[in-house]
Amino acid sequence: TSTMANSKYEYVKSYELEDKIMPNCWIVVRIDGKGFHKFSEKHKFEKPNDIKALNLMNQAAISVMEEFRDIIISYGQSDEYSFVFKKDANIYNRRSAKILSYVTSIFTSSYVHHWPMFQDKKLESLPSFDGRIVLYPSDQNLKDYLSWRQADVHVNNLYNTAFWNLVLKSGLTNQEAEARLRGTFSADKNELLFSEFGINYNSVPAIFRKGTILLRKRVLLPNSESRRQLIVPIHEDMIREKFWKTHQELLGKYHSPEVDLKCQDCEL
Ligand code: ATP
Ligand code: ATP
Ligand code: MG
Ligand code: MG
Ligand code: MG
Ligand code: MG
Repeated sequence: TSTMANSKYEYVKSYELEDKIMPNCWIVVRIDGKGFHKFSEKHKFEKPNDIKALNLMNQAAISVMEEFRDIIISYGQSDEYSFVFKKDANIYNRRSAKILSYVTSIFTSSYVHHWPMFQDKKLESLPSFDGRIVLYPSDQNLKDYLSWRQADVHVNNLYNTAFWNLVLKSGLTNQEAEARLRGTFSADKNELLFSEFGINYNSVPAIFRKGTILLRKRVLLPNSESRRQLIVPIHEDMIREKFWKTHQELLGKYHSPEVDLKCQDCEL
């Protein structure tokens, strides 16, 4: 009978290893596009920043947050997204492989599903994303993690903005632009952008300079008294303490979106 067959083979199940995540830690899942340097060229992403590609990343991240209520904040830039599960999340009994593989596959399938709604060009190859889980025991560790990712976008975007202006507007080759920027500091790149291209770096759209933060907020809808809980994209500076004061529900005990947001504070 099938019951006997089961008992004969069932021992293989015991080879599966326990992968339960440490309790009482922030769970960060970060996904990153595989070979997106090439992928972005193949699909003619606008350089340095393709807004449609970023909006698509944000949409895929919203799908993940809609699926997992325990994610209290997400942060995306370039081809990466970080999802932060609250410390006491008990999702899938904190089984690491389950959490990581669901997040990564929902993100990927949503990215592919929404592609035609965001991009004009046909999808030419199958995008894929790697994923990792990192645990942070303290609130300060979590703030430092998010600051690290946001500092990364700052450094990269300043460089890329200078680089692509040199290539696209001054007609330098990639190598010439690279040589021109070698050894320069932030202040030099700011100065170059301003003096050669009339660009005040601070006026570059915040989504490019700061990346995108997704928060759950109770939003007061315009021209009405009604509030709705929404996942809201903002582009603030998480490195400043002000961010954590403004959004104090994040590190609070109950993680409820207590701070109301007026619709004009966010882009909906
Ligand atoms: P890996 O597989 O190791 O992650 P990668 O080619 O994806 O390799 P990353 O360091 O992840 O390398 O960099 C992602 C690259 O994707 C960026 O350098 C940029 O060239 C491109 N890219 C991602 N998003 C955009 C965008 N919105 N607009 C323009 N280019 C983008
Ligand atoms: P879990 O999320 O725990 O995996 P599940 O609903 O996916 O829950 P499974 O034990 O993985 O449960 O079983 C998959 C179920 O999907 C099957 O029981 C069956 O109902 C359905 N299913 C999968 N493939 C087919 C198929 N080709 N034709 C009909 N039904 C299918
Ligand atoms: Mg990588
Ligand atoms: Mg990548
Ligand atoms: Mg990347
Ligand atoms: Mg199943």
